[in-house]
Amino acid sequence: MKSNWKDAEAKKLKGHLLDLRVYTSRLLGNEEDLVMHGGGNTSVKIKEKNIFGEEEDILYVKGSGWDLGTIEAPGFAPVKLSALHKLVELPALSDLDMVKYQRMAMTNPAAPNPSVEAILHAIIPYTFVDHTHADAVVIITNTPGGKGRIQEIYGKNMLIVPYVMPGFILAKTIHDMTKGIDWDRLDGMILMNHGVFTFDHDPKAAYEKMIHIVSKAEKYLKNQGAKAIKGAKNAKANPLKIAQLRREVSKIWGAPMLARLDNSPASVAFSNLSNVKKITDRGPLTPDHIIRTKRTPVVFSNKPKLDLKQYVKSYKAYFNKNNKGEKLLDQSPRWAILPGSGTLSFGPSPKHVQIIEDISRHTKKAIYQAEHLGGWKALGKADLFEMEYWSLEQAKLAKAGKPKPLQGKIAIVTGAASGIGKACVESLVAQGAVVAAIDIATSIKKIFTQNEVLGIRCDVTKVKQLEEAISRTVTHFGGIDLLISNAGIFPKSAKIADMDDKVWQKSLNINITSHQKLLQLCTPFLELGFDPAVVLVASKNVPAPGPGASAYSVAKAGLTQLGRIAAMELGAKGIRVNMIHPNAVYDTAIWTDEVLKARAKHYGLTVEEYKTNNILKSEVTSKDVADLAVAMLGETFSKITGAQVPIDGGNERVI
Ligand code: ZN
Repeated sequence: MKSNWKDAEAKKLKGHLLDLRVYTSRLLGNEEDLVMHGGGNTSVKIKEKNIFGEEEDILYVKGSGWDLGTIEAPGFAPVKLSALHKLVELPALSDLDMVKYQRMAMTNPAAPNPSVEAILHAIIPYTFVDHTHADAVVIITNTPGGKGRIQEIYGKNMLIVPYVMPGFILAKTIHDMTKGIDWDRLDGMILMNHGVFTFDHDPKAAYEKMIHIVSKAEKYLKNQGAKAIKGAKNAKANPLKIAQLRREVSKIWGAPMLARLDNSPASVAFSNLSNVKKITDRGPLTPDHIIRTKRTPVVFSNKPKLDLKQYVKSYKAYFNKNNKGEKLLDQSPRWAILPGSGTLSFGPSPKHVQIIEDISRHTKKAIYQAEHLGGWKALGKADLFEMEYWSLEQAKLAKAGKPKPLQGKIAIVTGAASGIGKACVESLVAQGAVVAAIDIATSIKKIFTQNEVLGIRCDVTKVKQLEEAISRTVTHFGGIDLLISNAGIFPKSAKIADMDDKVWQKSLNINITSHQKLLQLCTPFLELGFDPAVVLVASKNVPAPGPGASAYSVAKAGLTQLGRIAAMELGAKGIRVNMIHPNAVYDTAIWTDEVLKARAKHYGLTVEEYKTNNILKSEVTSKDVADLAVAMLGETFSKITGAQVPIDGGNERVI
């Protein structure tokens, strides 16, 4: 591991201690092999004058809820050092009291709660204290004889701390271990099954001690032949199987979850290991991961329902054995091994899935390397249980709030690069869904930047491309629950007598056949979906056609008929199919200012009059249409199928 310290960057901070603290915290936080997703913590001790002019020693320690990689000055909680020094002398301190008395000792009530390790940071007599869960070091501690190896690597100037619960107990243990010790002779502290502490009065030295300790562990692993797994060839995944597994796991979770396949060469190779079930059954990389990933993944055989049944049974047994009055948490796995295909990560949102995927990637690497050092040996079940059910850890998860109506749902929208399609994607995301946004325009890959949206370039008239788009949707999100089939074209106006064969055929290909094919290909996935529903975007031209638009209107009428029959065919499987008939939606790419002006003039109207030329005298926007389509996919319309709803501001010919 290399030091990323830059003298020039540090110089800009002009010796300001808190800014330097932010700087090296970010250096640590941006190194995945050191900390991930809220792991690790740092602090700095600063002398400050209070409002009475008295000088006080203040510990600025990472606040809970902040990530080291992105932390800013307000992410550090200022706590009076004297109070923390008094707390550590108490014979015992409950979690509730610890949180309470730490908050009472803060000099800024608006700051976040101090890290659970605040007391430990306080008793380390150095200005800068850095703490990480460095993979390389933890891998070595998580092996039989791990302590001996650590002693061998680091010698007697490394304080080795046996595993105890983080928080007050850990601070108290280290306080007792270091009574009368000469701190200056210590290179750092290694906490078994947990991580590393380094400290110094100089920010660069504290940071680089960490890099040095981790580099030594990395070198040791290399010398012992504990290298990274050799990647397997990219295996082909079966999307339908993934959708089935996502359904079964979601049922245990009690709500729709997302599932993402990691079929990177390393992940596939790991899933192929003959002893994968045995080695992944021993526990996580560090105890704090357990609230995210549970103790173990599920390993799927060709009987996934049975595998999950056993997973739940063994989780309950683990709970019953260790429980001392806690409430049983959900029993669904957060990640899975799919032998031959890689691993799956589950979560209610892309953010959750990303956390699980990152942690599982590091866990797989750690287990594989530790197997070369005599075997992976994670912390025991009783200690892990204590961590999983620790109120201060569960509090990290409790902040989530009320889920949105379409949380965990997976949608496909075609024609998603502009107009109604784009508005549908935005409306679905606003309701909590994730969306595969499909369009023929290459720009689709860049239009949506949020990780709730996967932009896929696809010509919907090409079956191979449709199949590929569906497969990508399922391996990235886990299935398909909702479909808005919207892709369409409006051919040039022509009377039947003058109709060009190519124009006619192209309209049929895009405006009806592509929808039929998409619906056909999506049906097996919708059958496995949660409250699955389809909306076909037809047109006002279906109930109220006009001369010169036969190529368009006939195709849209056919699409409507397709939807009516689909409603009958798919209803028994719980899939709803409804149609919408938009009219005069002018905030789309086709309707430029010039076109609008020209059309308005043609009817002797102003642009405003032309746009609102309906019974309600109200302009219909893409967002209005999208909100209707998304509502029809949701609970309000749960008892409705085969319906056609006009959205046109009221039209006498349609009414
Ligand atoms: Zn820690």
